[in-house]
Amino acid sequence: MDGANTANVAPVLILLGPPGAGKGTQARMLEEKFGLVQLSTGDLLRAAVAAGTDAGKAAKAVMEAGELVSDQIVIDILRDRLGDADCAKGVILDGFPRTTVQAEALDELLSESGQKINAAISLEVDDAAMVTRISGRYTCGSCGEGYHDEFKQPAKDGVCDKCGGTEMKRRADDNAETVESRLVAYHAQTAPLIAYYDGKGSLQKIDAMGSIDDIAGGLSAIVVKATA
Ligand code: ADP
Ligand code: ZN
Repeated sequence: MDGANTANVAPVLILLGPPGAGKGTQARMLEEKFGLVQLSTGDLLRAAVAAGTDAGKAAKAVMEAGELVSDQIVIDILRDRLGDADCAKGVILDGFPRTTVQAEALDELLSESGQKINAAISLEVDDAAMVTRISGRYTCGSCGEGYHDEFKQPAKDGVCDKCGGTEMKRRADDNAETVESRLVAYHAQTAPLIAYYDGKGSLQKIDAMGSIDDIAGGLSAIVVKATA
């Protein structure tokens, strides 16, 4: 019974794109709309840093420099999280995989559980706009809702629309210098995954230079099709 019916296999979506492309914002939207679970390796790593685990200690300086954390650490963290019961609903991977080694490890993990990638969606943006997007962003410390100085302010200044929280946070790596390094790492190590997924027939592209709502609409349509 359990897992025998392929129609019940939980969907797996991947969001690809440079830092600032809006992966986190859109993943949260898809989570709410489709009842999927957002898995952000950036969030998992920041939690590991805050908790002071061995992985967190190893990752901290690398993240602050805007470079990629080692494949081994990230793959271990992702594997652990994928094993949690809630992930049986289906997942949206945000920020993973980021290297070919990670993509191959993911293929292997999924094949062990009889799952496959429904779609790898590339959020297409201009690098130049990413620095502005990233340097203006902040999140609610209580619920994680994302905001932006220019593009998405809460209705009441300093108060989260979603949960009423008043503690807003800015990431340590969201400054102009680190953003440059993150973009370099993206082009060198992550952008090749676009061809990787194209070769497997799972790539979808979306113009991600528009408004948050427009992108959300386009993405929803892709997800509906990919999970039908
Ligand atoms: P962004 O996509 O905006 O750069 P993330 O929160 O996804 O932000 O990632 C922040 C940092 O965490 C990255 O710059 C990198 O150091 C680390 N990181 C996150 N995911 C991965 C991954 N899959 N592989 C290696 N490092 C990662
Ligand atoms: Zn909130």
